[in-house]
Parts: sequence; C-alpha cells; structure tokens
Amino acid sequence: MGKRRVTSGMRPTGSMHLGNLHGALDNWVRLQNDYDCFFFIVDWHALTTPGGGDAVGYENVGKLRENAVEMAIDWVAAGLDPGKCAIFIQSHVKEVAELHLLFSMITPLGWLERNPTYKEMVLGYKIEHPSYGLLGYPTLQAADILAYKGEFVPVGKDQEAHVNMTRDLAQRFNSMFGREVFPITEVLLTEIPKVPGIDAADKKMSKSSGNYIALAHDEAATAERVRIMFTDPAKIRKNDTGHPDGCVVYAFHGFYNKAEQPLVRDECEKGLRGCVDCKKRLAERMNEALRPIRDRRRELAGNPDRIRDILLDGAGRARAAARATLDEVREAMNLPPEAGI
Ligand code: SF4
Repeated sequence: MGKRRVTSGMRPTGSMHLGNLHGALDNWVRLQNDYDCFFFIVDWHALTTPGGGDAVGYENVGKLRENAVEMAIDWVAAGLDPGKCAIFIQSHVKEVAELHLLFSMITPLGWLERNPTYKEMVLGYKIEHPSYGLLGYPTLQAADILAYKGEFVPVGKDQEAHVNMTRDLAQRFNSMFGREVFPITEVLLTEIPKVPGIDAADKKMSKSSGNYIALAHDEAATAERVRIMFTDPAKIRKNDTGHPDGCVVYAFHGFYNKAEQPLVRDECEKGLRGCVDCKKRLAERMNEALRPIRDRRRELAGNPDRIRDILLDGAGRARAAARATLDEVREAMNLPPEAGI
C-alpha cells in the first residue's frame, strides 16, 4: 500500500517567523517522510479578506506574488524537500476552482452561515461588508483538500473543527451521487508548541502583532530582537531572584538551548544570572540553530529559477492528482465529458 496522503496550506504572509517554523513547518518536515504530502500556498484564501497594512487581501494585493515566493523559499530552506512532497501555489491548480464551484452547488447555505470561523473573521478583521468568497471559504478549503483526496490534515487541537465541513461535504457528495469518490478526511492531531511573541509570554508570535523573529532576519537583527524580549519585570539586577515562568527568554531557551534550560531556571531563581547575559546566550544559540536555514534561504533567494521550478513541478503533480479526481467527480455528477458527448 502506498503512503497515505496529507494536505495542508498556509496563507501567503511573506517571510516566515519562528512561530510558523515551530508551530507548523517542523511538523511538515517530519510528515514528508511518512506521508504523500501536498503543501500549498493559499493565495486564493488571502483574497477572502480585505487585507490592509502588511496583510494581503482583496484591497491590498500589492505584495501577494512577492509573499508567495518568500514563503516558498522559507519552506524549502526550513527543510521541505521537493523530492518528497509537492510544494505549489493554490491558484496554479484550476481544478480546485472547478471543484469549489461544484461543491458550492451542494453546500447548504445554513452550514456556511452557522460556521463560527466566518463570524470570528468578520468580527476579527472588522469586515463591514463580508464577501460571498469569505462566506464560501470552507467550501474552498474542502476543495483544497478533496481535490487531492487528502486523507489527513495536520492540525492542532483547537483547529479540529475546521476539518468538519470538509468531512460533511465529502459525505454529502458521496451519498448524493452514490459513489465513494472522496475519502472522509481525518485530522492528524499534532502537539503544536506554543511559540510566544517577543513582547509577552502569553501572546502568540504573529506577523500582525509585529512581535516576531523572522527566518529572513540576519544574526544582528535576531540578537536585537532577543535583547528587547520581555523578561521578569521584577528582576532588575543580576542578584535579584527571578521568575523564569512568564519570561519569554526562558521559553525560548526551551526551543534553542534545551540542555541548559534547567540551569537557566536554577541560576535565575537564585539570583546568579543576569538578564543581559541570559539574552546573549540565547541569541548565540538561536543564531547557531537558524544558521543552516538562513544559509539555504539566502542561496534560494539568489536563485529564483530554482524556486520557480520547484513550484511548477509541484503544481504539475498536484494538477495531475486533481484532474483525476475531477474526472471522477464529473462522471459521478453526469457532467458531459470534455472529450466529446
Ligand atoms: S535571568 Fe533569564 S530567565 Fe531569568 S528573568 Fe532574566 S532573562 Fe528571564
């Protein structure tokens, strides 16, 4: 039996940060060894919201292309291997749009209107006039997964419900047309480590908050971002006793300096370690660990043909898989065959 298929996508937010690296990419890099993986940059999804500031959207498309390429560079630099997985841009596979359209014919409007994510997005992005595309977002998401017959979607515990509509649509299609065209996609639950922002241990690192360290940052910029990281506000001098829980620097020692983390705690709590030195040590370890990724990133950024070839090859493989699915879909729905009636 061949490898089971995993699909997953990310919005083109541009250069990736450490939250993306540890929250998703590290997991994808592991999955590519055991599954047949399709990883795509969801540029159509980016157009479901207006955007603004640094965020791309239908009112702010200026950086859409650039962001997609930056993201592909980071994915490969972080360890996604185009020889093991298909890496591509969502909109390069037009079959997904066809499936989205066909799904939209059989998606009850109530499913979409009741979708809590839709309401959260309208409120979160303060969208005054939500678009038809935003309402239909889960249908597009289902098409993204099911065009490739995705059997698994890697998600964290809090995102489990996002796959429900895909499962419901697959079931509805299969029973409506009397054929098992689609698998009932399962979640591949992943322990997603919480990566704090540099400004607070209880905030997530994110592009929109500006509290991030990017893979594209150089070593000096990284050290500077570590220098301004939030620490225990009660620890002013080296010999003050500190509280590592709640200190962002301590949390990052857990990612980049695991072996020394118990010593960091001990010395911090006993007032034997100062925050300045603690940060310097972290910046050193962080830069050491990120160096190979950044070297690959620089090499890829200087070789646009290589990234273009990776994306074209990935899209070709994805298109072949999606075309085969669409042939089955069209037959099940009794749509006239393209090769003549
Ligand atoms: S010594 Fe280190 S762990 Fe303790 S508060 Fe300062 S930066 Fe945080």
